[in-house]
Amino acid sequence: MAPFLDLVFDVPLREHPVFTYRMDEKGEAGIGKRVMAPFGRREMTGYVIGERTEPPPAVREGAIKAIRRVVDAAPIFDTADIELARWMAGYYLCGLGEALAAMIPSGRRVGSQSASSFPDDPGEIAATPLALSDEQEKALAVITTPADPAVKLPPFYLFGITGSGKTEVFLRAAEAVIREGKSVIYLVPEISLTHQTAEAIGKRFGPIAATLHSGMSPGKRLTEWVRIRSGDVRIVVGPRSAVFAPLTNLGLIIIDEEHDGSYKSGNTPRYHARQVAMRRAAISGARLVMGSATPSVEAWKLMQDGGITRLDLTRRLSGGQPPEIIPVSLEHTEGCLTAELKEELRKTARMGRQSILFLNRRGFAYFYHCKQCGYELSCRHCSVSLTYHKSKGRAVCHYCGYSVVPPKACPECGSLEAGFTGFGTEMIEEEVGRTFPELRLRRADADTTGRKGSLAETLDEFKAGGIDILLGTQMVAKGLNFPGVRLVGVVLADTGLHLPDFRAAERTFSLIVQVAGRAGRYFPDGKVIVQTLRPNDPAIRRACALDVEGFFAVELAQRELLGFPPYTRLIRFTVRAKEAARADGAINRLAKLAAPLIPRDADVLGPAECPIGIIAGNHRRQLILRGKGMGALHGAAKAIMDTYDKGRDTKTYLEVDVDPVSLL
Ligand code: ADP
Ligand code: ZN
Ligand code: ZN
Repeated sequence: MAPFLDLVFDVPLREHPVFTYRMDEKGEAGIGKRVMAPFGRREMTGYVIGERTEPPPAVREGAIKAIRRVVDAAPIFDTADIELARWMAGYYLCGLGEALAAMIPSGRRVGSQSASSFPDDPGEIAATPLALSDEQEKALAVITTPADPAVKLPPFYLFGITGSGKTEVFLRAAEAVIREGKSVIYLVPEISLTHQTAEAIGKRFGPIAATLHSGMSPGKRLTEWVRIRSGDVRIVVGPRSAVFAPLTNLGLIIIDEEHDGSYKSGNTPRYHARQVAMRRAAISGARLVMGSATPSVEAWKLMQDGGITRLDLTRRLSGGQPPEIIPVSLEHTEGCLTAELKEELRKTARMGRQSILFLNRRGFAYFYHCKQCGYELSCRHCSVSLTYHKSKGRAVCHYCGYSVVPPKACPECGSLEAGFTGFGTEMIEEEVGRTFPELRLRRADADTTGRKGSLAETLDEFKAGGIDILLGTQMVAKGLNFPGVRLVGVVLADTGLHLPDFRAAERTFSLIVQVAGRAGRYFPDGKVIVQTLRPNDPAIRRACALDVEGFFAVELAQRELLGFPPYTRLIRFTVRAKEAARADGAINRLAKLAAPLIPRDADVLGPAECPIGIIAGNHRRQLILRGKGMGALHGAAKAIMDTYDKGRDTKTYLEVDVDPVSLL
């Protein structure tokens, strides 16, 4: 028993300080366990990352405090996890304790007792009757080729049109790896996909499969975690954080819908599951395979340069064909539905088939504007406009939840020529209901699916044919595989195009292709109507032509010209404070510190107000470091933060985002 323990805490200490404590009397603490220990004036949870026989050099033995108690009976992370956390802390510029905290489920004690309540017999893997297509066969063969363990395999990318059977290839690859005695992580985006894929995996793998997702209670998540750690589980399906699933003998990581924005964490550490997966695969000698019909621009560039091996799936296998996609101008339409879309909705219903209507904006109407004086109704705490929710009778802020009863006349000049324009899902629901009272319509967005499991219920009902038209936001755009769907209507394709973000075109393109991909999966007559105010926008035009290669060629040229990723790398600093002057002061100080530290080949964007200047009463300012390679940028960012921290105004907060995916 080592008499001393090295601990880290979940605090933003970026130089990764390790604190030494005395072992408990029974010697129950150890590497990978959590312990309670005095830290400053408080008692905090510490993570044991090392044991030592001697106190650290410079530390007097008498000054070392003892831990108070041990939280876990069994370790919750191993040395490979610590190695991964160290990499995360270095790469994402966070504390080691913060990285470890992001990797494990929050919750109480992890014991070793619950593991035995699950079957020891992993069970038979159910056989599937599907014969793979030649393209699928070929892709699977490449992914599962035996390789010399000393040779590092590049990641594979299954680039296949929507409905081309990527899932089947992933599942077969997983089977092969499990048969070798290894384990598998299967990552899916948040929201709807977890449900469908988890179901498919549960069916095929039975008791050796486990699901982790954000809707689970901490207790349930912890139970699943323990079961996974115990070795009974061989395949874990889940969103972003499942990349940390405590599987031993990891053989394969799968990333489905690689382009999806939910793979990037919105909180510290702001990690990207794709990057973490690459790292974890390298540490554990596992393979990595990703897939999408619309890869991220980063992944596409890597495929071009040979850093990722591309495997193509070009055909739909269930009798479907890529749908016919028709862009329609919304310009001279009264209401939100063009004659073309109404006609197709009618036709689809007459055929006894189903439709999906997609609009990436919830609420009824989103923009209150006075024609007389130009007044706009925005949130009191955020610099965004309020969205009118008719069902609630209030104008609501989607960032902080603030709401007001919408004014009858302009609060500024009293004019009656003021009101809401622009439509959200609630308004579409009303118009579709009025136009097609005989059809069964259901809306699925954050306002209707608040209750746990209600989205899953709606999707099941839609699948069973109990709904004619499914109307919704992102939730209906991703990965759904429903045989009955003939028509997809994109109510307004332009919602994301005007955003001041260099990824706006990429997002718009991939969203249209993805949502279009829900149509015609089993029958060759799929149809998509894309309503837009900008029928000539290149991203929208190429999406309607399903011209992925063409889109990427132009988008990459554009990024190179403007010096944006993947041709450069970014590190974004955001400062926030309750008072504008403090935020200004802090960002100006940061910029001044940064100036002499910027490496050659790099430059600085800003300081500037963030595009969304205020959120929840916090004034936001940003500074972006931009350079050719991450190495030099990292060094500069660390130096900047260290100096900044020393004289920081304690009423301001600094956040760092390495490889940001959104600049809002
Ligand atoms: P993707 O993930 O590429 O969008 P899916 O994996 O959802 O596509 O596959 C679409 C449909 O094709 C599914 O219903 C699936 O069962 C079916 N499918 C997959 N592989 C085959 C095959 N080899 N033969 C027949 N149908 C297949
Ligand atoms: Zn006015
Ligand atoms: Zn707000």
